[in-house]
Amino acid sequence: MTEILLEPKVYIVGAGPGDPELITVKGRRILRAADLVLYADSLVSEDLIAQAKAGAKVLQSSGMDLEHQIAVMAEAVQAGRSVARVHTGDPAMYGAILEQISLLKLLGIGCEIVPGVSSVFAAAAAVGAELTVPELTQTVILTRAGGRTPVPERERLRELAAHHCTVALFLSASLAGQAAAEFLAAGWSPDTPVAVVERATWPDQRIVRTTVSGLEGDLKAAGITRQAMILAGWALDPGLSDRDAHRSKLYDQAFTHGYREGTERP
Ligand code: SAH
Repeated sequence: MTEILLEPKVYIVGAGPGDPELITVKGRRILRAADLVLYADSLVSEDLIAQAKAGAKVLQSSGMDLEHQIAVMAEAVQAGRSVARVHTGDPAMYGAILEQISLLKLLGIGCEIVPGVSSVFAAAAAVGAELTVPELTQTVILTRAGGRTPVPERERLRELAAHHCTVALFLSASLAGQAAAEFLAAGWSPDTPVAVVERATWPDQRIVRTTVSGLEGDLKAAGITRQAMILAGWALDPGLSDRDAHRSKLYDQAFTHGYREGTERP
């Protein structure tokens, strides 16, 4: 195999939701070739991190504050080494990467972001759901309930949920009661389906299917307080796949589009 040369810079890599096979081919190549690997321990699989090359320096980020992380990454890059900064899921969602990018930029250090499979999509896969069901909803809102980190007033869940689309809640398992109250305030019916996936794609993954009214109690009963994705809305109705009621235009016999002549002209 030809040797893979990385540039002396910081590669911000999405590791995927947990399963070590859910990193991208590019992300894995960078992880295997980097001189320094700094990763979000407990959220990124040790099996994945074990693939770092022999001699690579491997550090866990959980015990380090931002300045400390920047210092070790900057030191490596300034010495001509490559850095893989490995984040859970996709780095663009609640990855706290902006603060890293800006501080590195001030030091003249370049970053490249390699996307990953976000837990929102791993959770949808785990429950076998399409989040954008034709004629039901064509929109997914990715958000969180406001906890210690405030959410801007104009993004209150009750305002967002007024669209009656699919809503994916990150970082909200311990705020489920509050989230359910917001859905009800937005006019959602108490029996709107909710699917919660704890530790999606990990060996100990758990799925709780519930409703808006059952959400808080069912999560409490299951003891789920963290590392869970809450997917809410009628797209999560487990009965949808038994009904064949929502067909897309894309594969509709009658529908003509750029790649296929349908039986009906537009
Ligand atoms: N960047 C990550 C999100 C980081 S914020 C991503 O794209 O997935 C952490 C939150 O993400 C958790 O509170 C939880 O809501 C969700 N999360 C991360 N990994 C998860 C997993 N394997 N299963 C379910 N939810 C997960």
